[in-house]
Parts: sequence; structure tokens; C-alpha cells
Amino acid sequence: MARKCINCESRKEMTRFEDETFTIEHGGNRIEVAGLSGWRCGACGEVEFDTDSARRYAAAGDELVLRDRQQQSKEIQRIRRKLGLSQIAAARLTGGGHNAFSRYERGEAMPMPAVINLFRLLDRHPELLKDLVKFNSGLKKSHVGQF
Ligand SMILES: [Zn+2]
Repeated sequence: MARKCINCESRKEMTRFEDETFTIEHGGNRIEVAGLSGWRCGACGEVEFDTDSARRYAAAGDELVLRDRQQQSKEIQRIRRKLGLSQIAAARLTGGGHNAFSRYERGEAMPMPAVINLFRLLDRHPELLKDLVKFNSGLKKSHVGQF
């Protein structure tokens, strides 16, 4: 009986492959996983790895995500220090709770993309930090006024 594609359910097109190398990309990093085997659907292109290949492919993907996280943690910490902000002051500017930055920098949590983007902008234009601090104190005052 022909093997059925788990993606498109075609029964005609599954072909065997052995010893192929796949490249996984994530956050600007890439990793190659060699010697993978399994089935490929000729109708939709879906790949179904054999058990061992699936395990190795998933492990490589996890490794890549971890590497990306560690790079981001280091980047956030480098920029924060360059700006002369404490972890608490940085959290006050970007939200996320008073210990958000200690968690980002230990790799326990991922900052929102907006936080990373803001920090990358401040890395290029550190002089904007004083405007940001001004906006932030202005916001607090208007909140006090409203309630
Ligand atoms: Zn298919």
C-alpha cells in the first residue's frame, strides 16, 4: 500500500530519500544537519523524517534557538551597559516588570521584539536616551493626573 502524505494526504507521491543534508536557519544563524533520511511528498514537498533523523533535526533546531537567545541576551546586556542604565532603570523604560532585564540577560525570558528594536536604535543613537527618559516621566505624570 502506498504511503500517505501527512500534509496533503496524497498517496501517490511519497518517495524515499537517504543521507541528505538539511539546513536550518533561525535569527541569522544557520546549522547543517547531515545524514538525514525519510520520505518526501512529490505533490506538496512535505518531508517526513525517520525517527532518528527527526530527533536529530529537532535537536539541531533547539540548539539554534538557544544560540539565538544567548546572542540576544548578550546584546541586550551590552547595550544596557553602554547606555549606563541599571537593569531596573532599563525595565522602567521598556515595561515588563522590575526584574525583566535580569531575566532577559540570564536568558530566562525573551524580550518583546519592540524592546530589542528600541535597544538597537539606542545602540546607534544613544543621544536619544534622554528624550526617552523625558517621555517616560511625562507619561507617569499624566497618569497621576487622570486618577
Ligand atoms: Zn503531500
